[in-house]
Amino acid sequence: MARLRDRETSTPVFRKLMEELGAFLAYEATRDLPMRDERVTTPLIETTAKRIATRPVVAPILRAGLGLLPGFLDVIDDAVVAHLGFYRDPVSLQPIAYYANVPDDLAERRVFLLDPMLATGNSGAAALDALATRGAKHMTFISLIAAPEGVRTILAAHPDVRIVTAALDERLNDHAYIVPGLGDAGDRMFGSTSSVPVSVRPRE
Ligand code: URA
Repeated sequence: MARLRDRETSTPVFRKLMEELGAFLAYEATRDLPMRDERVTTPLIETTAKRIATRPVVAPILRAGLGLLPGFLDVIDDAVVAHLGFYRDPVSLQPIAYYANVPDDLAERRVFLLDPMLATGNSGAAALDALATRGAKHMTFISLIAAPEGVRTILAAHPDVRIVTAALDERLNDHAYIVPGLGDAGDRMFGSTSSVPVSVRPRE
């Protein structure tokens, strides 16, 4: 976490650390996944072993959520990957949806939403709304750093959602960045300078 927060950390190292943390967080978030028994034959004998009961769904919020995805898939390699695209309007700070690819029926699935920075919680709440519309009932929000304001927003909108995070920071600043935080996770991960997608950004 110290290396991720450090502004001197380079983009490739930042991305690698994000991936590593994604795996640690996935271990915590998935430790109570329902299991089923399965008969398997070892080289010696037939026995009963545990398998995950139902393939979970993991939904990164584009872009920054992609950083936690490889680590999550290192732990749960056959999770179904859904994608949700939101960006934050820099003036209103409200989430704007620009992409969704989500399985139709999530009622029986454990769903894990990935977004490294839980800041205002507005895009997280909008993503959880989208997943709930498809029937999701067991949802976990995985973040790297959360602000108290964001946690409050998520729990006010979705009281049953579980939040798993590596750090609970102090507060948001006037631009809704987390303090102390690590800056813009998407920009630091991809080496870009704007988190608003060009195709939807108003022309200057
Ligand atoms: N998104 C980020 O990437 N960083 C923040 O501090 C807040 C939102």
